[in-house]
Amino acid sequence: MCYSTNIIIGLGKESEMFPTHKDCRNFLNGVCLLLGVPVDPNGPACPRFSAKTVKPSIIQPHAEVDLAELKGRLDRIEAELARIKAALKNL
Ligand code: SF4
Repeated sequence: MCYSTNIIIGLGKESEMFPTHKDCRNFLNGVCLLLGVPVDPNGPACPRFSAKTVKPSIIQPHAEVDLAELKGRLDRIEAELARIKAALKNL
């Protein structure tokens, strides 16, 4: 998630909404590897911020897969396909 998206949808605490250099994948040992300059780890990130990780709170859990429902949908699709094929043969 980008910095702007986090602000727009308002996730997390204010401190989590404004990433710092240390949250950026370009940050290593007090240095911005992208710009080649030392930065304060707790300072506000720049517009070129790129998150190291996606916060777990924004990851949507996968819904359980209902195999019976999927089989039913496949059966209905196959039946519809057979109906269309039969209609095409009559053209
Ligand atoms: S937020 Fe900007 S200045 Fe800070 S580490 Fe990332 S790219 Fe560099």
